[in-house]
Amino acid sequence: MQKIPFLLLALFLTVACSGGSKNRDHAPQKVLTVTIEPQRFFLEQLTGDDYTVHTLVPSGTSPETYEPSPSVMISLGKSEIYFRVGDLGFEKAWSGRLAENNPAVQIVDCSAGIELMAGVLHDHDHSDHAGDDAPHDALDPHVWTSPRAMRIFTQNMLDALVRANPERESFFRDNFDRLTERINFVDSTLTALLEKSPTRSFIIYHPALGYFARDYGLQQYSIEFEGKNPSPAQLRKLVDLARREQINTLFVQRGFDLKNAEVIAGEIGAEVFEIDPLRYEWEEELIRIATILSRRENE
Ligand SMILES: [Zn+2]
Repeated sequence: MQKIPFLLLALFLTVACSGGSKNRDHAPQKVLTVTIEPQRFFLEQLTGDDYTVHTLVPSGTSPETYEPSPSVMISLGKSEIYFRVGDLGFEKAWSGRLAENNPAVQIVDCSAGIELMAGVLHDHDHSDHAGDDAPHDALDPHVWTSPRAMRIFTQNMLDALVRANPERESFFRDNFDRLTERINFVDSTLTALLEKSPTRSFIIYHPALGYFARDYGLQQYSIEFEGKNPSPAQLRKLVDLARREQINTLFVQRGFDLKNAEVIAGEIGAEVFEIDPLRYEWEEELIRIATILSRRENE
């Protein structure tokens, strides 16, 4: 019997709230911005409903060549924190400009503390090396394909969230512990799958799996040469190498041209697989990639 007033009160509150929500300006949702979709996955696991997370680079767009529009820059300026991957193509150039125009936005380098690999045959710096294509000391920015690196990456996210909201620390930390368990599960799944992988090398159009390859004892060869399509001579070298190493897997990222990949695959008898390392479903995509590499031809 005592429940009735409660129900009435709840009903009243529901009506009152939905009436109030017509005027949505009374409590603007707090916003965070990230560069790529896998980051949004990690960040949303940590923040729950505390924030809306915006992704800068739309899915299917290359973060190497992306340039944000003025409206994107304005909405970025309303974010409490901008989490950059680290040194992805446009990030270096644009986060400087963002910092100047929006001193209130904290910028967090999620790759801080991760041991970065040299970006061999790879130039990510189209934006600030205009006219100078030499990759020199370029580092490989694709850290998010390594579950091990993601433990540090997500720790950087957690630290920044706690600094900004000390009162929510225990909530963020609980979420972080659960996220770490999920990352560990992906790591052990990849280890188990790749241990029995029949070949230790693969070819990929754009070298996005360098950290993944390093962590699981694999060798990545990229078709792209210093960020550009390869010359016929470079293609020939790659085909010879693929035959020598009996490579049977060729990855092309979503949004990249399949033509060169199909030519090479035809010559060496490899299978072409389209992958999407920029997907929000980070766990699923890494496990899918490892499953492809661990397949046996006659299964
Ligand atoms: Zn890339």
